[in-house]
Amino acid sequence: MRPSTIDTNQRPFVLVWELTQACELACKHCRAEAQPQRHPDELTTEEGKRLLEEANEFGENQLVVLSGGDPLYRDDTFDLIEYGVEQGLQMTLTPSGTASLTPDRIQALADSGLRRLALSIDGATPDAHDGFRKEAGSFRQTVEAARAANEAGLPLQINTTVCAETVEQLPQLRELVADLDAVLWSVFFLVPVGRGQVLDPVPPERADRVMEWLTAVNSAADFGIKTTEAPHYRRVAIQQRRSATDKPDSDAIGRRTGITAGDGFAFVSHTGEMYPSGFLPKPAGNVRTDSLVDLYRDSPLFEELRDPDALKGKCGACEFRNVCGGSRSRAYATTGDPLESDPLCPYVPEGYDGPLPEQSPAD
Ligand code: SF4
Repeated sequence: MRPSTIDTNQRPFVLVWELTQACELACKHCRAEAQPQRHPDELTTEEGKRLLEEANEFGENQLVVLSGGDPLYRDDTFDLIEYGVEQGLQMTLTPSGTASLTPDRIQALADSGLRRLALSIDGATPDAHDGFRKEAGSFRQTVEAARAANEAGLPLQINTTVCAETVEQLPQLRELVADLDAVLWSVFFLVPVGRGQVLDPVPPERADRVMEWLTAVNSAADFGIKTTEAPHYRRVAIQQRRSATDKPDSDAIGRRTGITAGDGFAFVSHTGEMYPSGFLPKPAGNVRTDSLVDLYRDSPLFEELRDPDALKGKCGACEFRNVCGGSRSRAYATTGDPLESDPLCPYVPEGYDGPLPEQSPAD
C-alpha cells in the first residue's frame, strides 16, 4: 500500500501509538522528553488492545507503528504486537538502541509477526551518534541490532534526524544505511519540540540543498527514502524535474503523493491523547473516551489540517500547497498556529507580498 493509493480523509497511512515515554536514553532531539520511569496513566494492555481493534476499523492492512520512549520498556509489547497481527494490522516497532535489544529479542520480534524494525542512527561514527544520543555504546548496540534484524529476516528502517549538528554526516550515513541493508531511510527534519528545542535546525536554503541531494540519492540507492516533517521535498523534486525538462509539470502539482500531520498520519500518546503528529501535540480528543476513527475522520482539527485552502501566510498562497502544504508541526511549534507557514521553507510564491515566517521558536 502506498500513501497515494488511500483516501487520507478516511484513514491514516500511518498510525503511531506511543506505548510509553520511558527510555534509558536521553537523546538531544527527543520529542517525548523521555523519562527513566513509566507514566502511571499510560494506556493499559486492555485499552491498547481496544485501540488496535479500532485501528483495524480503518480498513485492511492498516499500518501501526509502536513507538516511545522505548516501546520495549513495557512488558506487554510482544503481546500487543501479536494481538495487532491477529487483527490483520501491519505492526512495526521503533525501539531505542540499547543493550536490551539483543539478537534473541530481535528474533522474537520477527517471530511475533512484526513487519519492520525502525532504528535511529544520527551519526555515522560512534562519537557522533553517541554524542547525540548522550549514551556511550549506543552506536555499537544499534548497528549490532541492525545486523541481527538482517539475520532474522526482519526488514529494517533507519531513522535520522537532520539538524545543524548532524547534517555534515549525511553522506557517510547514506553509506551506512546501504551497508546495513535497510529497506527505507527515513530522514526527519528537526521540529523544535521537546528536548529538540535546544538543537539548531539547518537554515532553509541548506534544507533545500539537502532535499535536492536526497532526490539524487533516492534515484540511485537500493533503499527507499522518505522525509518526515519536510513535505517541501516534493516541491523540490517537482522543481528539479521542471528545470531538467523545461516543462511546467502541472499534473504533479495537483497530485498528493505524501502524508502530513492529520492527513494520512495520526498519533496516539502514551495517555491516549490523539494528535495529528507526535510533533504537533494539540489534542483532538482522547481514545479512552472518543472513537479513534471518528477523531481521525471528523474532528475539526484533523479536518482543518486536510484542507489546503485553510492554510495561512505564504503556504496558503503557494501553488504547491496541494502537494506540499508545509510542515504543520513546525508551524505549530514556531507560531502556536498549525495553519501558519512552515519556517523551514525558503520558497516564496510568485506575487506573494505578505509576512514571511520567523525561523526561531516562539517563546
Ligand atoms: S511555501 Fe509552504 S506550501 Fe509552498 S513549498 Fe513552501 S512549505 Fe510548501
